[in-house]
Amino acid sequence: TTHPIVEHPRMTVIGTGYLGATHAICMANLGYDVLGVDVDARKVAELSAGRVPFFEPGLPEKLKEALASGRLRFTTDFALAADFGDVHFVCVGTPQAADSPAADMRYVIAAFSSLATRITRKVLLVGKSTVPIGTAARLTEMVHEMSPVGSELELAWNPEFLREGHAVEDTLHPDRLVFGVSSLWAEQQLRAAFRPILEEQTPVVIADLATSELVKVAANSFLATKISYINAMAEVCEVTGGDVNILATALGYDERIGSRFLKPGLGFGGGCLPKDIRAFKFRAEELGVGQAVAFLGEVDAINIRRRVRTVDLIRELVGGDLMGVKVAALGAAFKPNSDDIRDAPALDVARMLYLEGAIVTVYDPEANENAHRVYPDLDFADSMADAINDAQVVALLTEWDEFRNADPEVLGQLVANRRIVDGRHALDADRYRAAGWEYRALGRPLSS
Ligand code: NAD
Repeated sequence: TTHPIVEHPRMTVIGTGYLGATHAICMANLGYDVLGVDVDARKVAELSAGRVPFFEPGLPEKLKEALASGRLRFTTDFALAADFGDVHFVCVGTPQAADSPAADMRYVIAAFSSLATRITRKVLLVGKSTVPIGTAARLTEMVHEMSPVGSELELAWNPEFLREGHAVEDTLHPDRLVFGVSSLWAEQQLRAAFRPILEEQTPVVIADLATSELVKVAANSFLATKISYINAMAEVCEVTGGDVNILATALGYDERIGSRFLKPGLGFGGGCLPKDIRAFKFRAEELGVGQAVAFLGEVDAINIRRRVRTVDLIRELVGGDLMGVKVAALGAAFKPNSDDIRDAPALDVARMLYLEGAIVTVYDPEANENAHRVYPDLDFADSMADAINDAQVVALLTEWDEFRNADPEVLGQLVANRRIVDGRHALDADRYRAAGWEYRALGRPLSS
């Protein structure tokens, strides 16, 4: 097309959850005029008042700066959004469907519909949500049928790789940008929308729509596989007497393998990896290439078995029966520096302990509130000391610094019995043993 590029595009960000709020705030910080849009009026009110509705280091400060600059606003009004944006970023959720491993696409479809029916000029609609391969092509058709300007609207896909806990850094200084486009116009409009980031020599990969959708799920599948790989080795260690920690260290020095994501433990969780590998496998089966990614079923199964094994370790440590046993569960978030409890291994373990009759007290520095909402039957403590007070066994389930840095001697004086299962290989086993604790970890023999 001969449409000009908007050099300093006004942006909307549809869906202001973990991804969308971060994206909107960072784009405003880079100098763009941004309108964040969400159907959740409470979220919009919180963000407008300068409060980030979730825990993300550094983001509250960036939000305040952006609001003060006058470049960032939030609304629930799609008419306003349609009028405002030259580039629209869609960042709504794609959770696992309630009744299948597939992604629930209703929010994505709703967001694109809300825009398409209201937009009356040539703009770029950019999907950032993680979606099944083929979604962008399907949405392109849908949008053209719905829109008053029809084929004038263009879709692009810009998958997001940010990590919760590092979201600001990852957004402002990404390893790479991937632009899934079907025209030079879309590519150039996206380059204009990311100019300050591209000026920092950030690699950009130009791809077709399907490849850009695949990049995201392929990356998450690789990371999940790496974690489950070392956890599979932990299972082997458990029957051979090997030590998976030493194994991981030795493997990690091989530069072809690398030590990152090679950490054995309770495994992965969160709002991305588990649902992304399941949705990818499901979509591949639909497309007739299920065999190619059948291994993702094993990756998922290995990951879930770690939770069961952690409960086994705790049960063994208290003599074989959890009924009535007081357990302190340290951690609820799926990883440290996050309050995200979606598919959190820590809470899954707490739930299983509870179902076996244990008296479980959970403490997480940031995620108690979210966890309590989803697991109202569990008890929550306001501090680590309260959680472990009188505990017969302690389970470390999320590796917050607060837990890593705790003094085993001081903790020892609070508990009923000095027994600990380190689900994250986060503690110094020798220090704990020297302080009289019985220490157990996944994939490690009793003495190491
Ligand atoms: P989230 O649940 O935190 O946020 C989604 C937001 O979208 C919510 O605030 C919800 O109210 C809003 N929403 C739902 N329907 C809407 C609609 N029709 N119009 C406007 N807003 C609507 O989810 P998230 O973690 O931010 O994830 C969003 C997407 O980004 C998912 O596809 C996810 O896989 C992907 N992603 C997330 C991360 C991450 O670290 N969280 C990283 C990369 C990619």
